[in-house]
Order: sequence, then C-alpha cells, then structure tokens
Amino acid sequence: MLTRFTEQTTFPDAGVCIVGAGPVGIALALSCEAAGLSVLLLEAGDESDRTPARGPPTARIVDERRHAPVEVSVRTGFGGTSRWWGGRCVPYDDIDFLDRVQAPNAAWPIQHAELSRWYPAAAEFFGCGPAKFRAPLARWSRLNGATFEALERWAPHIDMGEAHRKELAASTLITVVLGASVSSLELGPDSSAVVRLMVVGDTATRSLAPVCCVLTCGGLESARLLLAAQQAHPDAFGGADGPLGRHYMGHISGKIADLVLDDPSDVDAHDFFLDGPAYARRRFAIDAAHQVSEGLLNASLWIDNPPFQDPDHRSGLLSLVWAALTLPVIGRLLVSEGVRRSHVGGRSFAWTAHLANVLRSPIATVWNLGRLLMGRYFKRPRLPGFLIRNASGRYALHYHGEHLPNPDSRVWLSDDCDTLGRPRLNIDLQYSDADARSVLRNHELLDRSLREAGLGRLEYRMPAKERLASVLAQASDGFHQIGLVRMGSSPDTSVVGPDCRVHGISNLYVVSTGVFPSSGQANPTFPAVALALRVAHALAARIAPDQKAAAT
Ligand SMILES: Cc1cc2nc3c(=O)[nH]c(=O)nc-3n(C[C@H](O)[C@H](O)[C@H](O)COP(=O)(O)OP(=O)(O)OC[C@H]3O[C@@H](n4cnc5c(N)ncnc54)[C@H](O)[C@@H]3O)c2cc1C
Repeated sequence: MLTRFTEQTTFPDAGVCIVGAGPVGIALALSCEAAGLSVLLLEAGDESDRTPARGPPTARIVDERRHAPVEVSVRTGFGGTSRWWGGRCVPYDDIDFLDRVQAPNAAWPIQHAELSRWYPAAAEFFGCGPAKFRAPLARWSRLNGATFEALERWAPHIDMGEAHRKELAASTLITVVLGASVSSLELGPDSSAVVRLMVVGDTATRSLAPVCCVLTCGGLESARLLLAAQQAHPDAFGGADGPLGRHYMGHISGKIADLVLDDPSDVDAHDFFLDGPAYARRRFAIDAAHQVSEGLLNASLWIDNPPFQDPDHRSGLLSLVWAALTLPVIGRLLVSEGVRRSHVGGRSFAWTAHLANVLRSPIATVWNLGRLLMGRYFKRPRLPGFLIRNASGRYALHYHGEHLPNPDSRVWLSDDCDTLGRPRLNIDLQYSDADARSVLRNHELLDRSLREAGLGRLEYRMPAKERLASVLAQASDGFHQIGLVRMGSSPDTSVVGPDCRVHGISNLYVVSTGVFPSSGQANPTFPAVALALRVAHALAARIAPDQKAAAT
C-alpha cells in the first residue's frame, strides 16, 4: 500500500520499520516482504518532479571544491536519489575487503563472497541484466598487469521508485507512507534499544515504537539522525569522538591524460553495448596482484569524451550539448542537476569558440545530435551515454579511484537547525596525497601495459610535475557517501557490526553506502542494494514469526 501521511494516518504494527525509500530502502522492503515480514516504509518526500530541492540546504560544506552541494547530491522523495543518478551498476572487488598495507583501516569484517551472493538478486532489482561483470576479449587479454574485462552495467530505468511502484502499491505486507520525515530517534535509558521515532509530516506529527528499525536514508542523512540521537546519549555509537560521522569517502575522479589507440577501430571495444536487456561497458583496472605488489589503491579507468566545456575539443556536437546544458531550464530536462553542473564547468563561457565548432561541421553536428537524441530519449533501453568517435583514435581517459578512509574527513552537527528542527550537518570531505599518488601510478602502469601489448599509449595533458596537483584539484564528490557509519567488528572503531546492526543496540540497523569501510573503485549503489538483500534475509531469520505478518 502507498499512502500519504495525514492526521488520519495510523501506522501499522509492522515487524520492520524502514526509514527512507531510496533504492536501498525499497529493495530492503521488497525483500522483507518476500520473506514474510510486514514492513512500514517511511519516506520524507513525495512522488515529485526532478528539480533540485528548494529551501535552505540541510548542510554546510566546509570546502566547496571538494563536495557537491547537498541540494544536487541528495534527493528527498520516493525513489530517493535514484531519480537523479546515472544508473551505473558496478560490483566491489575481492581486494576491497582485504586488510591491505596501502589502505589502513579499510578492511571489511566480512568477505566479498558474503555480499556478492546477493548480486544476482540486486541485478534483478535494477533490471540491469545478468550479474555478469566480466567480459574478456582475446585481443585485450594481451595486457599484462592491467585488465580490460570488468563491466559496468546500466539500469535501463533509473528511477527505482517508479520502477517498483506497482509492486509496492499492490503489496499487503508493505505500507509506504510518503511525506513522513523521521525527525529524531530516541534510545532507551540504557541506550540498548530504539524506543521511539518521531515522525513529522505537513499536517501531522506522530511517534512510533518500532520493533526493529532500519535506517536507509542515504550516507549523510543516516549519519545525521544518529549524530542527533547521540546528543542525548554521548556514549552511544562509539562515543562523541568515536567513528560515527568520520572516515567520509567518495571517489577521486577526473582526467589527466588521453588514451591514444594504436588501431583506432579498437574503439568498438570501449563503447556501450547491449547485453541482454541493458547496456554495459568495459573498464580498465590494474589487476589485484599488481595492486598488491605496487602498493596501489583500486581504480578503474575508461575512455570518455573530452570535457564538454572546453571548446578545444572542436566537436560541434559536444559544443551543442554544452550550450544546452548551460541553460538550466533546458539542461535540467536533459540530465540531473549534479550531472549538468559537472559538464557546464566553472570556466568562463567561450560561446564564440563553441559556435565555431558547430559551424565547422553543421551537417555532421545535426546528424550526430539526431542519433544521440534518438538513442537517449526515444529508444528502450535508453542509451546511458555517448562517445564521439574520431579517426585519430584519441580519447580522454577518465579515472575513478579509491579514496582512503581518514578520520579527519568527516561530518558533524552544526548549531543551527533545518525546518524540522533537526541540526544541520557540517561536511568536511578531505582527500590526501596518497589518494592522488595512487591515481598517477595507476596511469603509469596502464600506459606501460598498453605500450607493451601494442594496443595504445597514454598522453598526459600536463607535464609530470603538475599532475599530482591536477588530480588533487579535480578531487570532489558528495554523490557517493561512503564510510560515515562504518561497518566493523569493534564498537570502538565502527558503528555497525557485520550484520549492519548498530553495536550495542538490539533493534537498530543501518543499510547504506555509508556503512562500507572502503570505497574501492565501484560506484556504490549496486553493492548497497546487495547488502540490503543480505540484511533482509538475516532479519527474516531473526524476527519472531508472530511479528512477520502483523501489518495486514
Ligand atoms: C547525479 C548523481 C549521479 C549518481 N550516479 C550514480 C551511479 O551511476 N552509480 C551509483 O552507484 N551511484 C550513483 N549515485 C549515487 C546514488 O544515487 C546513491 O548511492 C543512492 O541513491 C543511495 O541510495 P540510498 O537508498 O541509500 O539513498 P537515497 O537514494 O539518497 O535515498 C534516501 C531516501 O531516504 C529519505 N530520507 C532521508 N532522511 C529521511 C528521514 N529522516 N525520514 C524519512 N525519509 C528520509 C530520502 O527522502 C530519500 O528518498 C549518483 C548520485 C547522484 C546525485
């Protein structure tokens, strides 16, 4: 059932109360239902449009070069931020779970296999085809030390609220209440259980005593709710100077080099291709053995168009797309605001040079634009992106690297409050030289491997002495919210245990990218949904049979 929170709303006596209906909360709810559990799913937002949130932001960013504004990186509403996301589904790697010398405090208390067994069900949830994430090609298997077989798959229908709305609305075991913001959670006097949630809507406020509560509000919002609860219970969640709100990670990404293919026709292997019902694409990585021997952090790299905003690309299509994106009204119809801003860039706008690009080859520009619009907006599945091919085989190389956990990269509560009276967050996302150095070494090893295999080479966009600074200058995230509620075995160094239950609290769980102790190279939503399915399975075994269908 799907309903809106009003004065008339009565909350059912559900076995599991889930806070937040983004992809993770929805996957958890559906999986709990499949296991016979009754679910109350509380969602702060509505089924609204895709424009960014209005009103004062819920967070202050300490260094705006490092973190996107929360108004464009976190969406409040049914389906959560999946309404804005790219839809890239990528698994973690075995190495991300290990205790590595080069990545202190990044080991998981579980093995990858305990998560990856849920990847097939997560792939089904996203509709991104089979959970097959490797597709070797004989020609590219010549690479030594590097691999070009890892796949990213793309969800064909990105909004997980829309994709699963029918199932949720028809469910007799799941009650989704929209417009229901959990403004606080209250712990009992000995901090061993959540005894009350305060739920605030436009016209009603209600309290609720959950049997079992799972926070699936995203990395930042889950941390904010727990930090607010900690004000009344300073020893909870590892204490005031403990792990909660620390080790904030995203990814380190950007471009410092071009990949030049020895045989330009090899670009076919790099483009999007249909695999079953969804698109997929290959990414480069340095293999696990060389990551270990070189002391490298994980990273993946893929070819891309040059930055749209720089007219030196001389592509009429890129200039036209850039021009459309600079106009917010049009740009927001085409892509989400976070993506729009990243393509528009911060440089002063070189309109004349972009116009010259279009006029240089008007027919090709219009032809390419028609193909792009057709693939992206009129075909199913939609084309997740596009690559402009060129005869010289030269492409920008995008890197997406691991960001190390650092306790000083953190969030904490501010003294002022949002409209619901909840303290806002201060966000200080920090990157280190070690994150950036590893990106450089990943490039060097890939370059060597490509040259030795006779497949291509990297050509840097700046001299060697400027590269580290360039990687650090581009370092920014806020979209992937990892580490703030980290998972571990000890309550001194982590907030949740291997089962995602908060240490020392019998009925409180957090399921989010925020619990991941390492960031790896993967965009994190797909593994977070796999984690939700794992937790649902464990809850079904834990919650008493008489609570399983209490909500009918
Ligand atoms: C532009 C952009 C592109 C991205 N691209 C990718 C990508 O390609 N691949 C990838 O893996 N990830 C991507 N991400 C990240 C991805 O969107 C998030 O990792 C994912 O949405 C997290 O899912 P979630 O369910 O944990 O949280 P969310 O999707 O943020 O959902 C949380 C839900 O909880 C609700 N909520 C919050 N607080 C409360 C409260 N107190 N009470 C009740 N409800 C509450 C919110 O309204 C929201 O609906 C992208 C993000 C952005 C912004």
